[in-house]
Amino acid sequence: MKIAILPGDGIGTEIVAQAERVLGCLDLEFETETAAVGGAAYEAHGHPLPEATLKLAKEADAVLFGAVGDWKYDKLERALRPEQAILGLRKNLGLFANFRPAICYEQLTHASSLKPELVAGLDILIIRELTGDIYFGQPRGRREAPDGAFKGAPEAFDTMRYSRPEIERIAHVAFRAARKRNRKVTSVDKANVLETFQFWKDVVTEVHAQYPDVELEHMYVDNAAMQLVKAPKKFDVLVTGNMFGDILSDEAAMLTGSIGMLPSASLNESGRGLYEPSHGSAPDIAGKDLANPLATILSVAMMLRFSLNQPEAADRIESAVRSVLAAGYRTADIWSDGCTKVGTRAMGDAVVAALSGTTAKTITKS
Ligand code: NAD
Repeated sequence: MKIAILPGDGIGTEIVAQAERVLGCLDLEFETETAAVGGAAYEAHGHPLPEATLKLAKEADAVLFGAVGDWKYDKLERALRPEQAILGLRKNLGLFANFRPAICYEQLTHASSLKPELVAGLDILIIRELTGDIYFGQPRGRREAPDGAFKGAPEAFDTMRYSRPEIERIAHVAFRAARKRNRKVTSVDKANVLETFQFWKDVVTEVHAQYPDVELEHMYVDNAAMQLVKAPKKFDVLVTGNMFGDILSDEAAMLTGSIGMLPSASLNESGRGLYEPSHGSAPDIAGKDLANPLATILSVAMMLRFSLNQPEAADRIESAVRSVLAAGYRTADIWSDGCTKVGTRAMGDAVVAALSGTTAKTITKS
């Protein structure tokens, strides 16, 4: 089993280092190879997704990705910006299905900005289509407005589009996932305003005919954003397009206490995937030993389960994370009174200790 490790920028290198330590104490044999991506790759090779990095990602059984981006690259032309690396990997590896489970661990109900009773026991799954929609749609660009009240004025435009096969395959993924859970899918759209999402709604409804055992509801994205903070536990699986999923999954992160707790898996048709925390490179806290590595460590568990066929190892990691939280260890983003505040590395120490069956006394407090 070969794992491509792409730490990236900012906190990416710090959190991936802890995830690698966790991988290293599982008594499983992996070949790992690390490559530069994002701003780090631009600095070293002049491109955020060098050929060699893409080749490694294509050859590997799974990719463990940190995060890319930094404000200092904002003035670069778009094709050279770090964020193009993750878009390029998604497109080139055909990673169309993004799984973002939002689970509120019992010990973190007070870390959420919502009332504890709203999030206690929360376990929902957001499935975001990842290779279509307005993020990839062509044409896009800047031009002189060809018509309208401001005809002739400079304007910018993007294209929102989805084809039938793209919607069908993500709908199948959602219905199949719901069958392993509570058999309910909420398809999120904006069918009242957008032609693309009326089509989305029609196709999802057609696919649903093959899954009579799964309940389907349709919800407009503005209402879904509201319901996620009003009554999040009434959802089971949410399926939506690339842009709405991007926004709703960050909102869902706060239900779990912190975006530092939210892992993700991005899979292609053959089940190979890229695993990454749902957050970005957090330049504001990079290099300060403040980042929560748990989303990345939990992404490793998803990688073992979905791509490497090691479900027991995945279970071990998830229960190690639970026991570390139960022991009271918290990074700053999830800290509350009475808990032990630890840094990135010390949180990694705690998970490694839990996996090795030792107690947390090996932890270096920071
Ligand atoms: P971000 O997710 O990096 O940070 C948002 C906020 O959450 C910040 O306050 C940050 O400190 C905090 N945060 C994020 N991860 C955390 C963690 N593990 N522990 C504790 N706190 C954490 O989003 P942003 O600030 O909007 O973007 C920063 C850079 O990341 C930008 O360049 C953006 O383009 C990039 N980005 C990359 C990805 C990716 O690599 N997949 C995703 C989103 C954003």
